[in-house]
Amino acid sequence: MKVWISVDMEGIAGVAHPRPTERADQGYPAAAALMVAEANAAVEGALAAGADEVVVNDSHGSMFNLDPASLHEAARLITGQKAWSMVEGAGPGSGVDVALCVGYHARAGHPTGTIAHTYSYGPVETRLGGRPVGEAGINAMALGAWSVPIGMVTGDDALAEEVAAWLPSAERVVVKHGIGRHAASALHPARARALVRDGAERAVRAAAAGRLAPLVLAAPIVLETDWSNAAQADLAAIVPLATRVGDRTVRIETDDPLLAYRAFLAGIRLASLAA
Ligand SMILES: [Zn+2]
Repeated sequence: MKVWISVDMEGIAGVAHPRPTERADQGYPAAAALMVAEANAAVEGALAAGADEVVVNDSHGSMFNLDPASLHEAARLITGQKAWSMVEGAGPGSGVDVALCVGYHARAGHPTGTIAHTYSYGPVETRLGGRPVGEAGINAMALGAWSVPIGMVTGDDALAEEVAAWLPSAERVVVKHGIGRHAASALHPARARALVRDGAERAVRAAAAGRLAPLVLAAPIVLETDWSNAAQADLAAIVPLATRVGDRTVRIETDDPLLAYRAFLAGIRLASLAA
């Protein structure tokens, strides 16, 4: 059983404001330490369930946050500037059986989700098939194209609700309650890690028993983004498959989930030039 773990920072217990998630902030080293400890809890749970290979994909910001020497020694670490971003390492030939998402957060536009956003602070809202969606759902779309199910998602209560709608078979681990976009009430990190560890173990056991299903979307796939400003929408709309359909709204439409993901990611990266 090969387990792949994508680790973001905004959904980690104890992180509630965007500032410490940024490298230049004084609080960043403490936030990065909380991040690696929660990642390790997921690795431990995966190993307890019989995983014989564990890969951790650093999925936050510039994607080199996890201190390699602090990561559980049973895990390989994918770190650095990766073309496939949050889903790097789970594609064809990887042999990944199940994905776990740790430290994730609610979609852009959620009223109370902690540091709610989707891939960058550019999108105001993202919708898949007309329904609001966040990173967990968008990543599940790409992973689903590779037949990889998501077994667990950890973060706040707003994220858990979002995941229930998109990934009903995934374990939902709640380590904090969103009070508002920049405030949360969190468990102590030790308690959070215990929940993440147990959730990961249950998820990998469910995967081994064949009880998880990858996300499969009916064609055509329609992925829409309302951008913060029209310049961002201009740049995102230049991507192949993208169409400008509103003042700040860009629609990607295709039958291929991987093309939808690639077009979305290209739009995020282009639009960052107009942030
Ligand atoms: Zn994120």
